[in-house]
Amino acid sequence: MLACLVCGGCFEKLCSLVNRKTVNRCPNCGLRRLDPFPDETEWRHLYNRKEYYSENLHELHKDLVFGYDEKKAIIQCYKNHLQHIKSAYPPPARLLEIGCASGVFLDLAQKAGYEVSGIEVNKYAAEYATHHFGLKVSNSMLEEANLPANAYDIVVAFDVIEHVVDPNTFINKIKRLLRKGGITVIGTPNTDSSLHRLAEFLARASFGIIQYPLFRFYGWGKQHLHLFNPHSLNHLLASYHFEPIGKYDYGIPFENICDLKGPYRLGVRLLWGRPYEFTVLARLKSEEVTA
Ligand SMILES: [Zn+2]
Repeated sequence: MLACLVCGGCFEKLCSLVNRKTVNRCPNCGLRRLDPFPDETEWRHLYNRKEYYSENLHELHKDLVFGYDEKKAIIQCYKNHLQHIKSAYPPPARLLEIGCASGVFLDLAQKAGYEVSGIEVNKYAAEYATHHFGLKVSNSMLEEANLPANAYDIVVAFDVIEHVVDPNTFINKIKRLLRKGGITVIGTPNTDSSLHRLAEFLARASFGIIQYPLFRFYGWGKQHLHLFNPHSLNHLLASYHFEPIGKYDYGIPFENICDLKGPYRLGVRLLWGRPYEFTVLARLKSEEVTA
């Protein structure tokens, strides 16, 4: 069994998913890991398709378009992120978003006074953000992006770190992009949330018969390779000289995430309302010299 990338602990098997993937847990820090990982071709295929935002993610992205309705719950969710960022690091400042999708959050941040740019792995979404919002977006993975070092005050990544193959490389790259004293803002599903606890309990107690909720926590059993809790994410960030300066809970609104129909939809609706994701705000310690 592989060692935990956060604390070096030894993963233990929790349960199997129907697609032959295994959910593992580090008993020390709580990090979850989905095995086996996709190979590089498979990984790129997952995110580079034109259909990525119109199939499973249609409910989420139908509201994240040019001319968006500010009253929509998902826009309110983005505004909530922005309010926390403004409290921690008010504009003017240089803000980079990793995984900016169609560019709605960057558009909101730009309107709030930030100098913004983005990275997006899906070329169709990157083109949308460039053409419709006029944003500076580079179409690449963070690890491959040709971006200036020590150049940003704020690097944000919402619902991204759970998708990446190597979170250590991911955080190290963020560290290199930030200037000293800059902050990173990372949002991701929370394994300590009541919804995740319930999903994991149902899958294990039913010997895998009731596994749809857990399947969704892992991005249809294939997209989310690591799931964190605040402890494991802060532990990872501390390894790269970040100190926590804030944390808040959130969740993508029900109507933007639930693709179930009929009575199942009603059942999930009744359970909804508790945040199942969290965001950590962390500052790169100023005495650390980035290279
Ligand atoms: Zn661990």
